[in-house]
Amino acid sequence: PVVTRFAPSPTGYLHIGGARTALFNWLYARGRGGRFLLRIEDTDRARSTPEATQAILEGLTWLGLDWDGEPVSQFARAERHAEVARQMMAAGTAYPCYTTPAEIEAWRAENPNQPFVSPWRDADPSTRPDAPHAIRLRAPREGVTVIHDAVQGDVTFRNDQLDDMVLLRSDGTPTYMHAVVVDDHDMGVTHIIRGDDHLTNAARQAQVYAANGWDLPVFAHIPLIHGTDGKKLSKRHGAVGLHEYAALGYPAAAMRNYLARLGWSHGDDELFDDAQALEWFDLDGIGKAPARLDFKKLEHVSGHHVAAMADEALLKELADFLEATAQPALTPLQLQRLTPALGVLKQKARTLPQLLEQARFALIDRPVQADDKARAALDPVSVGILNHLTAALQNANWARDDLEAAAQRIAESHGVGLGKIAAPLRAALAGRTTTPSVFDMMLALGRDETLARLADATA
Ligand code: GLU
Repeated sequence: PVVTRFAPSPTGYLHIGGARTALFNWLYARGRGGRFLLRIEDTDRARSTPEATQAILEGLTWLGLDWDGEPVSQFARAERHAEVARQMMAAGTAYPCYTTPAEIEAWRAENPNQPFVSPWRDADPSTRPDAPHAIRLRAPREGVTVIHDAVQGDVTFRNDQLDDMVLLRSDGTPTYMHAVVVDDHDMGVTHIIRGDDHLTNAARQAQVYAANGWDLPVFAHIPLIHGTDGKKLSKRHGAVGLHEYAALGYPAAAMRNYLARLGWSHGDDELFDDAQALEWFDLDGIGKAPARLDFKKLEHVSGHHVAAMADEALLKELADFLEATAQPALTPLQLQRLTPALGVLKQKARTLPQLLEQARFALIDRPVQADDKARAALDPVSVGILNHLTAALQNANWARDDLEAAAQRIAESHGVGLGKIAAPLRAALAGRTTTPSVFDMMLALGRDETLARLADATA
């Protein structure tokens, strides 16, 4: 069975690149009935914070990526990491190294540009002092270490270029590189999908797997995300934290779709739902070239998902969005007016704030505040027409056909086009001249509210 993991370092927020890594691991595992695990790499005590861990968990939850079991704390497993290092020392695949930092520096000065070779590697064990020491991997000095990467292909590292890395420091704490291998092994991880900035680490990690006689997982090192200009993604390209995208009002479903396509493809398919992504996602579809963040494409994907979303799901997204951006929740009255219009509104909005903007007429209360253009549309002639319309609407059946027929009749009796009625009607109902269709608004507001707003505007 497939076991994947996401292993973020809790030193900030959930980066968009990290979110994509998590998504790939989630899709790969969930699409195969496998397990998706979470490990918090919190060994760097100075930089790791509980707030950052919380932000990562919240980000994953928002994105809809559920993990199996409790998140594993790497720091909490330090004793296990030390135990494995000691076992390796006992087995001879690792050795104690007593060199001091000053000695290592002196060695480096004499052997420039060469990986450090500890004098203790081949020292007679009987000469080992009873003193603090690091534990180093006894790495092969000759030959090569080849990573058969599912994305990068075979990547070869010369062993004489890799030093005997430290597994356990002289203070007894594990190195990050060692901890990762022990954790991945103990957690039963079968596939490691992560950024290609970890590719060289894979060579060293593979040596630790080999030294322990452990099965090597499948590695898939994915190219990092670049900005629109093809350079490594940074703040100046725009939003880099997943929470920023949530605050911009992209629904989580749209982000899943968009992020899945960021570096992975399935033919020409651009727009898909979770079921399709889970069915299609494969390591073969991951590209070797860095994907570029493309906000236009994100808008497009988002618009598709907003339009495709069931009303209930969309209302939930709106509620989450308002909460995430510290805006008041919709009141029952607002919901009552908004819900009938959702089907129409969601066809036109690409993001949640755009939807709220379209829905503004349903969210405001009387008296409607008219902007300049709306006030201009309510000239005396138009108000006269609205008065006639108001009278006609008193007893009209509140259905689209009947409302349209009533408006048509009033227009004809005044010898004007329907547009001449629509403009002041928009102004009266929404306080603006750009709104959804007047009939959609009337249907969403209902007779009483519509007539009340007309009365306000014509008073
Ligand atoms: N903690 C590492 C990072 O945040 C990930 C290590 C891994 O996936 O092996 O980049």
